[in-house]
Amino acid sequence: MLNFEFKNPTKIIFGKGEIKKLSSEIPENSKVLMVYGGGSIKKNGIYDQVKTALSGFDIIEFGGIPANPEYSILLQALEIIKKENISFILAVGGGSVIDGVKFLSSAALFEGEDPWDILAKSIRTTKGLPFGTVLTLPATGSEMNSSSVISRKETRQKLGMGGPGLFPVFSILDPEVVKSIPQRQIANGITDAFTHVLEQYMTYPIGALLQDRFAESIMQTLVEIAPKIISDPSDYDIASEFMWCCTMALNGLIQKGVPGDWAVHAMGHELTALYGIDHARTLAIIAPRHYEYNIETKKEKLAQYAERIWGIQNGSVIEKAKQAIEKTEDFFNSLDIKTRLSEYTDDYKDSGKFIEDSFTKRGLTGIGEHRSLKPSDARKIVEMSY
Ligand code: NAP
Ligand code: FE
Repeated sequence: MLNFEFKNPTKIIFGKGEIKKLSSEIPENSKVLMVYGGGSIKKNGIYDQVKTALSGFDIIEFGGIPANPEYSILLQALEIIKKENISFILAVGGGSVIDGVKFLSSAALFEGEDPWDILAKSIRTTKGLPFGTVLTLPATGSEMNSSSVISRKETRQKLGMGGPGLFPVFSILDPEVVKSIPQRQIANGITDAFTHVLEQYMTYPIGALLQDRFAESIMQTLVEIAPKIISDPSDYDIASEFMWCCTMALNGLIQKGVPGDWAVHAMGHELTALYGIDHARTLAIIAPRHYEYNIETKKEKLAQYAERIWGIQNGSVIEKAKQAIEKTEDFFNSLDIKTRLSEYTDDYKDSGKFIEDSFTKRGLTGIGEHRSLKPSDARKIVEMSY
């Protein structure tokens, strides 16, 4: 195992009806900015639950954070935070709202001139304005990690940021929120969480037995519950499993002591920046081709995954590895998620070059667990996905 330090300070409050605990988690006398998305919370009752729990607090609301949180909109919220002396931010939403709030948390205390530098110059956030979350969509794990991804349409960029100052103080996870989530977003959530595990697991050399088994248990659970949660999102017990899997997939635990790949996410973010394709779907487009392209280095781990997740016991290492990639693609397809870029856009032909140029311009000269994939490799992987 590699050396590691592990500290995750986010308090998780999990279960039915727990949104009411908000009032005891937010410091007394806080001036709160409540941030949410396009309005789903007003239709499914979450807004009312939050408002009831927060009666007594001085609250300003900021709605309208879009999927793939947009920088220009976040700047409007930042202005309010500064003008109104906001002391606590509450995110009520999925990964986009939570990531947007992480940017706000960082930018509120940023001393530089241009808050975009936090993303463009990869400035780590050691202290942010405190914030908590009410999760409405299991998928990203953002509710229990310290990273965020922000989009800027104007420049066709989608960049990451993070740092130890960006863990939520608390996150409330009530699986009852799952019942109102549209199928497309449930499929996205399963795919994103599954790929988060793959990014931390499908690396070489093989080495960390316990970490592998933590990762495998999350993947096995996701595979088991996927058809059930898609067919009945109001099944509370299955929704609970789904929610906890998504959080555990990216709260730092399974990343400790092992290398992280994250090339699939790096390429996927570019496809979202270019075409606006849902985050999870970009991962389903890239992941199978990434593993095919890197099959020589990853074949032993792919074969272990074939055996333990997909029950494939026969064949050589390379045969098992190939079957594992097929099974992964079949799994995404079973969720009604397409795995070819040409199934999402007719305008795909320049995307390989776009990614090569974008990575080169950003100085991202090596990605993957050993930083060995060059921008030209990323271009080939994307071109394989057409
Ligand atoms: P999302 O973009 O937050 O939300 C997608 C859609 O689901 C929105 O239209 C939202 O509607 C709707 N929705 C949310 N909760 C709902 C509910 N309970 N009932 C009905 N509709 C609901 O989706 P996401 O997949 O959670 O987040 C994606 C973003 O997170 C991407 O930008 C991605 O890059 C990022 N991400 C971050 C991390 C991380 O570690 N920080 C990891 C992976 C991905 P409303 O807007 O109307 O509420
Ligand atoms: Fe993701």
